[in-house]
Amino acid sequence: MKILVHMCCGPCSCYPVKKLREKNFEPVGYFFNPNIHPHQEWRLRLKTAREFAEKSDMKIFIDNHYGLRDFLEKTSKAVGKIFDEDTIKFSDGFHARCKICYAWRLSETAKFAAENNFEIFTSTLFYSIHQNHELMKKTAEYFAEKFGVKFYYEDFREGWQEGIDLSLQLGLYRQNYCGCIFSEEERFSKDIRKARKNFFTQ
Ligand code: SF4
Repeated sequence: MKILVHMCCGPCSCYPVKKLREKNFEPVGYFFNPNIHPHQEWRLRLKTAREFAEKSDMKIFIDNHYGLRDFLEKTSKAVGKIFDEDTIKFSDGFHARCKICYAWRLSETAKFAAENNFEIFTSTLFYSIHQNHELMKKTAEYFAEKFGVKFYYEDFREGWQEGIDLSLQLGLYRQNYCGCIFSEEERFSKDIRKARKNFFTQ
């Protein structure tokens, strides 16, 4: 059976696509990530997603719209303080903006699946050890019901190291921050890292 696989990037697709094929699914990729900034990084991740699809002989659909402005508009009220202790308490690394980001990407995937005759969809986001897994699961289930398609759930995190090894074997570019400009700042700003460290050692 064909399954639409939302691809957050090339490296994160390696393990889920392998697992889905082992389960006799026929994965078809879908790149929709308006959360990735700046433009050169988005282009690089898109290129890598294409490269992965080509090397693994998988069909891919691509949304070519670079969504910085839409992303900022959608998340402007959820960005908050530079270091938001309230959302950090909920789960390390989780922010209110991520909730919007998950909903946007998963709803578009469910909608695309429904409009293009896919009965079922999933996402490589379920491979990430850095995301709020339970919230993404609930979100995907909600949009599956809304658009009348099925959501395939699997905890792909169990293949974290295998996925890294596969991406290295394929020579794929591996990014070092989640995607949005805020996550880039959080990854590289010494002040934010210091604030987080102080918060967790209080
Ligand atoms: S940190 Fe990642 S999941 Fe959260 S809003 Fe930014 S890109 Fe989206």
